[in-house]
Amino acid sequence: RVRVRFAPSPTGPLHIGGVRTALFNYLFAKKHNGDFILRIEDTDQKRYVEGAEEYIIDALNWCNIPYDEGPGKEGDHGPYRQSERKELYRKYADILLEKGAAYYAFDTSEELDAHRMDHEEKGKTFIYNHHNRLKLTNSLVLGEEETKKRIAAGEEYVIRFKSPTDTKIILSDLVRGKMEIDSNVLDDKVLFKSDGMPTYHLANIVDDHLMDISHVIRGEEWLPSMALHQLLYEAFEWEVPQFAHLPLIMKPVGKGKLSKRDGDKLGFPVFPLTWKESIGYRESGYFPETVVNFLALLGWNPGTEQEIFSLEELVNSFDLDRVNRSGARFDPDKTKWYNHQYMQQQSNKELAVAYTTLLENKDVFISEERIALPYVEEVVALIKERATFIHDFWELTSFFFVAPDNYNEKAVKKQWKEETANIMGQLVSILENISDFTAQNVESKVKDWIGDQGLAFGKVMPPLRLITVGDMKGPDMFHILSLIGKEDSIRRINKAIV
Ligand code: GLU
Repeated sequence: RVRVRFAPSPTGPLHIGGVRTALFNYLFAKKHNGDFILRIEDTDQKRYVEGAEEYIIDALNWCNIPYDEGPGKEGDHGPYRQSERKELYRKYADILLEKGAAYYAFDTSEELDAHRMDHEEKGKTFIYNHHNRLKLTNSLVLGEEETKKRIAAGEEYVIRFKSPTDTKIILSDLVRGKMEIDSNVLDDKVLFKSDGMPTYHLANIVDDHLMDISHVIRGEEWLPSMALHQLLYEAFEWEVPQFAHLPLIMKPVGKGKLSKRDGDKLGFPVFPLTWKESIGYRESGYFPETVVNFLALLGWNPGTEQEIFSLEELVNSFDLDRVNRSGARFDPDKTKWYNHQYMQQQSNKELAVAYTTLLENKDVFISEERIALPYVEEVVALIKERATFIHDFWELTSFFFVAPDNYNEKAVKKQWKEETANIMGQLVSILENISDFTAQNVESKVKDWIGDQGLAFGKVMPPLRLITVGDMKGPDMFHILSLIGKEDSIRRINKAIV
């Protein structure tokens, strides 16, 4: 059975890279009718940030990619917070000690620093492994008796993994393919500390094993740990899960990974949800569908030209063999393009409901009739193809709700001629006589009049737009007149010609 996990450390807001990892895990699980597990890796108490776990869960729910098992959704493999599994890890460190795959070490950080400096002076790098371990202070040197004595005396220690000497380690990754690592470059990583806490490496492997994880899908920054992880599984004589390391997400331009600062510089936020003071995708008006869609294509490709995918379509098309090896370039303009696309897919009603909340908080008086849903819906229908975000709506539609209080000066100079006031005056009497004020009817009556008078369109329509909208923008003029109604249309013209 496919069982995958997203295993964030609750150290702050989720970067979009984290959300992408969660999404790929989710898609892979659902594609194979498997389970998607959330495990909170909170063994490092120094880096723990209050509220981060709720934030992570919120982010997954907002994206519509809920987990099957995790905090608050107990399955058969809980608890799902490593801090609640604390008691368990020591036993596994002991198993490795017994097997001779791990050992106690008592070196202080000062001593280790001194060794590092010493090596540096000779132009070498210090690696705590077979090159050096017999020159250091650990149970391999001290022997069992002395080690026991020191521990009994309360001396601080760590338990280190004893990495193999002169061994070629063959790794196989579903994205990167086969890799060969020379064990001599690995250091004897710390697995357990005397404060009773495991390190990431030990807790991660033990939990993946106990939680029956079949595939480990995570960011490329964890690739350097893969050799150690495989060695740990082998030392325990456990089945090794399959690994898939996802490509880095790169800056929109230039070299390097996407960072939080890129978001600030480009005027768009990288983080998907509010974190304390910062704002993110949700607050900036992105639809969850947008975020899911663009993240899915950061590092994965469908092998076709298709760009718009619903979550269901993603589940159906996703597979790890189409995950790219090379870094995925983040494109903020494309992200906006997606939002525009999803805007068109929303129903007018949904958009109108969201827009009404915004209208209610505007600092202008809007009549009850115009803030009512049917009216807002009609407005939204007319302009949504021009909008990327709901917060663009006001800029595009304010004249539907309130008459303009000034006119674009440049446009006035260009459009307002000697005869304009007179023509607009005549138009008022035409409008007054239209009883059925639909866009279609107004259009035919006004056009008939223009024709009868032998007027040029350019003498009527541009100034009419200018005084109705305040500017030379907006959707079809007759739709605007029809929506704001006869009375308001006439009032706006009269106000301009007095
Ligand atoms: N806790 C690690 C992180 O914060 C998990 C890495 C992994 O998936 O193994 O990303």
